[in-house]
Amino acid sequence: MPEGSVYLVGAGPGNPGLVTVRAKELIERCDTLVYDSLVHPTVLSWPRADCEQIYVGKKAGRHSMPQNEIQKLLVAKAKEGNQVVRLKGGDPFVFGRGSEEALALDAAGIEFEVVPGVTAALGAGAFSGTPLTQRDHNSTLVIVTGHEDPDKSESSVDWANLPRENCTLCVYMGVSRLESIAQNLIDAGFDPAIPVACVEWATLGHQRVCRADLGTIRQEAKQFGLKSPAIIIIGENAAMGEKISWFESKPLQGRRFVVTRSQGQASELSGKLERLGAEVIGLPLISITRNIDEATKEDVFAEIASYDWLVFSSPNGVRYFFEAFFETFDDIRSLGFIRIAAVGRSTAKEIKKFYVTTDLIPDEANADSLAEALVATDSLDSANVLLVSGNLGRDVLTVKLEEARAIVDRFEVYKTEATDLSNDPAAKEFRESGADGILFTSSSGVKSFVDQAKDLQLAEDALRPQSVSIGPITSACMTQQGMPVNHQAKEASLDSLVEAVVANFGKESE
Ligand code: SAH
Repeated sequence: MPEGSVYLVGAGPGNPGLVTVRAKELIERCDTLVYDSLVHPTVLSWPRADCEQIYVGKKAGRHSMPQNEIQKLLVAKAKEGNQVVRLKGGDPFVFGRGSEEALALDAAGIEFEVVPGVTAALGAGAFSGTPLTQRDHNSTLVIVTGHEDPDKSESSVDWANLPRENCTLCVYMGVSRLESIAQNLIDAGFDPAIPVACVEWATLGHQRVCRADLGTIRQEAKQFGLKSPAIIIIGENAAMGEKISWFESKPLQGRRFVVTRSQGQASELSGKLERLGAEVIGLPLISITRNIDEATKEDVFAEIASYDWLVFSSPNGVRYFFEAFFETFDDIRSLGFIRIAAVGRSTAKEIKKFYVTTDLIPDEANADSLAEALVATDSLDSANVLLVSGNLGRDVLTVKLEEARAIVDRFEVYKTEATDLSNDPAAKEFRESGADGILFTSSSGVKSFVDQAKDLQLAEDALRPQSVSIGPITSACMTQQGMPVNHQAKEASLDSLVEAVVANFGKESE
């Protein structure tokens, strides 16, 4: 078997939008993903379903995998013929031990590539509104570590001789030693009035910034409860963030929400919330996969020209139907003069992708309205109807169409299943940290959440979320399942749901 290769990839400071295009491409197609703590759960949802994901970071109360074992693992996985992504927070060559891994791979004769990432200091500078250099008065940028190898007794950072003026200092891994760092710098002649900004969880929705000056930062950080990971920025520019803190001023910055989604699908709602500064955890409660019985497929396509109506009840149905269709036929005209109905606009949009026009869309996107609209065409008596569906779908459509004397064949093309959340990174994040709010956009989302409740038990000190519903149907289902409805959108739409979230959780609501 040909040998694989290893990619030493920087994942950036945390915000999934700051992962490079090259990194994303590699993550999406790798066979093995070896990652540390501080990699965002969204990024861990990008690999293929059959990608082997190996966590080598610190586990609660336990140490991370020793560095030489990580190196052995990378070599072994590559020798088995895998494309291995070694994903590290920030940049692999900035306090990331990437060089040790590169040397080990080189020694083992394994091909490798290094993909840079946005290092934490750059993320902290940008997202706290702190320019790291400035044309007239700040021309040096220094990156130092505040905490080296814990086995080393002496610091090799020459604190006494760092540039004292016209310089921005960015200290990594400095939280636990903040006190001695500040003292060392003052002893070395740094002005105690120099501004300091400590940026905790830089670039993420729950970023916090503690601002003070070199003389007061120890006290302030204690009061603030500053925790790792944080970058300590020391220099004149550290005070500028008060003016240009574009990120902290977003209405939902500092808030964390949970949304439910299906595996592999990004949610439109997450994007809307993230643009307002929120941290979003997408819980992949269900997975949707193609599920077509080959014999049924043959029967359906052999008779396709005899159907009068082709009815789609979801965008997924459209996707899997046409995929199967083009495995049998190579020309769209094999559909014949069939009329096409879709449950709603998203489904019709999916149909349009195949250059096919939808003849009927009901005013409201639900099965009852679709049935009524079809009955109203007065074309169902003895008509042959092909209903494309998933394994769940309610039977109301079939029943109502049959009442109107149609002959209905149901063609199941996909199945919806609960995902295993016990090891899912997003679910783990939710269990450990909780959230400010949990948003439900459908009854099926509520039901899957309740079904999987055992894998979503919150830790003792996790934040207990309030629940927010998109509208009356979802709220009724929540109530029925014994869940409180803390807030409800005015109109049943995503935009209205986001408005309700801003009104109840946004900065202005305080
Ligand atoms: N290779 C990484 C650094 C790893 S060392 C990089 O290039 O960014 C770990 C330290 O990085 C943490 O102690 C903290 O100082 C910093 N760090 C990483 N992510 C951070 C974040 N989102 N916010 C603030 N500091 C972060």
